[in-house]
Amino acid sequence: MKIDDVKTIGVVGAGQMGRGIAQVCAAAGWRVLLVDVTEEALKDAIKKIGQAVTKAVEKGALRPDQAGAVLALIRPMRSLEQLVEAQVVIEAVPEDRVMKQEVFAKLGRICDPATILSSNTSSISIASLGVASGRADRVVGIHFMNPVPVMRLVEVVRGVETSERTLTLALELVRRLGKTPVVCKDFPGFIVNRVLIPMINEAIFALEDGVALAESIDLAMVEGANHPVGPLALADRIGLDTVLAICEVLYQDLGDPKFCPCPLLRKYVEAGWLGRKSGRGFYIYDEQPALNAS
Ligand code: NAD
Repeated sequence: MKIDDVKTIGVVGAGQMGRGIAQVCAAAGWRVLLVDVTEEALKDAIKKIGQAVTKAVEKGALRPDQAGAVLALIRPMRSLEQLVEAQVVIEAVPEDRVMKQEVFAKLGRICDPATILSSNTSSISIASLGVASGRADRVVGIHFMNPVPVMRLVEVVRGVETSERTLTLALELVRRLGKTPVVCKDFPGFIVNRVLIPMINEAIFALEDGVALAESIDLAMVEGANHPVGPLALADRIGLDTVLAICEVLYQDLGDPKFCPCPLLRKYVEAGWLGRKSGRGFYIYDEQPALNAS
């Protein structure tokens, strides 16, 4: 399959990543089938995409007619079955290996044999998703950064069985989105999270040890290390459940105690303090929490 053959992209999971991926794919002119298991998540996604494109019009980044076109290209739905129409599928369900394998097994049965299946996973093995799908040569990692419409980097992850043609198509797709692809091998955490997550985890250890307040830790890294946002505020933005899940995968799959998740992170997740999306993490947020629970 060539990039010009791609007319419809399926996005599975309409959470903070899925809705951003749907938005940028529609902005590039593709028809998007956006699937989620909950009606609330779909409604919330369409609302937030609407707000994002309105903001883009206000900033002059998008013409009003383009904003309408983006929304018109996105079709929300509850069932995977209609993904039979998609030439490319991008999965963005929670960072849970078993859940993702189940989705890939279903996609393998539903989608056209030529369809390329990809995952936005931050840390889970692309090879294992390939095996679950029954078409490992047509499975690739397409790992967007958060927030998707803003961040330029996309890691394109080559599983051991990913074919050259699949990799090439993924790279062309990323470039058509106006983003910068970086190819990497299928190792836990790929590049960005292997470096970023241990830093966030260490910031949480520093908070737990009482080294400083959350605000001071973040300010220190912004002013002292020139980071655009502090590690604890960033963790809240990523979602503490996602940070914990990535940390667990790094710890288990690389077998190095340096990746062991901080107990405070685990406690916050157990308490339902998931960061911005639940209204509370290392900071408290006024904004209405997004509805992500299945
Ligand atoms: P999220 O919790 O915001 O959204 C996940 C969505 O998937 C929810 O709306 C949920 O209802 C839906 N879902 C659950 N099971 C489903 C199923 N079987 N079929 C369809 N939808 C289903 O999570 P997120 O932050 O968007 O993360 C999604 C993926 O993206 C994860 O693999 C994560 O590691 C990765 N990722 C996250 C970030 C980040 O900063 N949050 C960055 C890069 C990659």
